[in-house]
Amino acid sequence: MVGAAAALALARAGFATALLDAREPRPWRAADEVDLRVVGLAPSSIALLDELGVWSAIRSSRAGPYAHMHVWDSENGAAIDFDAADEGRDLLGYIVENGLVQWTLWQVLDAAGVRRLCPAEVHAFEAREDRVTLDLASGESLQARLLVAADGAASPLRTMAGIETRGRDYAQRAVVAHVTTEHPHCDTAWQRFLPSGPLALLPLADGRSSIVWSLPDDEAGQVQALDDAAFRDAVGVASDFRLGRILATTKRAAFPLRLQLAERYQSERFVLLGDAAHVVHPLAGQGVNLGLRDVAELRDTLVAARLQGRDIAAAHVLRRYARRRLSADTLDAHGFDALARIHAWQSPPLVAARGLGVRMLDRLSPLKRRLAAHAAGN
Ligand SMILES: Cc1cc2nc3c(=O)[nH]c(=O)nc-3n(C[C@H](O)[C@H](O)[C@H](O)COP(=O)(O)OP(=O)(O)OC[C@H]3O[C@@H](n4cnc5c(N)ncnc54)[C@H](O)[C@@H]3O)c2cc1C
Repeated sequence: MVGAAAALALARAGFATALLDAREPRPWRAADEVDLRVVGLAPSSIALLDELGVWSAIRSSRAGPYAHMHVWDSENGAAIDFDAADEGRDLLGYIVENGLVQWTLWQVLDAAGVRRLCPAEVHAFEAREDRVTLDLASGESLQARLLVAADGAASPLRTMAGIETRGRDYAQRAVVAHVTTEHPHCDTAWQRFLPSGPLALLPLADGRSSIVWSLPDDEAGQVQALDDAAFRDAVGVASDFRLGRILATTKRAAFPLRLQLAERYQSERFVLLGDAAHVVHPLAGQGVNLGLRDVAELRDTLVAARLQGRDIAAAHVLRRYARRRLSADTLDAHGFDALARIHAWQSPPLVAARGLGVRMLDRLSPLKRRLAAHAAGN
């Protein structure tokens, strides 16, 4: 998603752009079951996709709007609500399939003049004074002024550039599935914090909810091994039956969770963005939103450099992008990490203090509004 959005954004800004990917995205078809990988897109991401001319196609294909968010604590009953109306908006965001976003972006790359090389893998690259040369696994060679790496959390390009990462393994997995609930989701993203990790129920366009249930590795394994009836019961109990009983479920998948931040976002004629630069806990639903903010920042930085007649990949230009995004992403990543840690507290005084904090926050409109605006990407 992030690499395709970057290629399109840079091509639309007038840069000659090529996109390399190891695999073609799977075609998205309305008749297919809703894919298990979904994301909550914040207003900043929707604005970028709209600017790139793909948002209306995504929205009309299959996107679940949500206007409310209700977050509550299983241990002390404290809750916080976010309402689009309080922010002067119609909606807080949309839940969409990763595959739909990527596929829609791919459909317009050719018309935007992006040269697509797929399947293609970079074997090695070398930055020289005025260009970077890429050797592809196919034996082909490519030259460019700038190499933009959006090749995911394991980023082979980041490794080739010698950029280290720091962070921690949460020793947790997110179990995901789509469930049919007894009561409607009311266009609300629900999230219950349990001592073992958060359970989110995200509203899908077809009335079902997509669950993201973060659990310690061993418990996630046990939950995945349950038969469907036992899994439905377990989700019902974990969600405190907030949407009633769970009537049906799809198959499940699980994703390991970690916090990972690249130590630098740039080296010579090279920048990182998306999960290649940062991987965050999904509890705030912000991973791809941060990646799309990287895209907007990179495009704006390169356009400004071109306007000033500078080399778009000059070290000071790339440092400007890297400095801005690394500090914003670091703050967010550690904020989400702190939330995960605070919600793991189990000693009664700390649980009570957490409840007090959440209740106060819910009543402190200006602070709550700032949090909501930040999540929206403002
Ligand atoms: C359970 C879960 C729930 C989440 N929920 C949310 C949410 O609600 N909101 C949100 O914003 N984020 C969410 N996220 C995070 C979000 O899914 C990721 O941030 C996002 O998918 C990252 O996109 P990306 O394009 O940076 O990386 P990827 O999707 O990993 O894409 C990497 C691309 O690089 C290509 N590639 C890899 N290696 C090579 C190579 N050697 N050569 C060529 N190409 C290569 C791959 O084929 C792929 O196309 C969630 C994550 C999880 C696990």
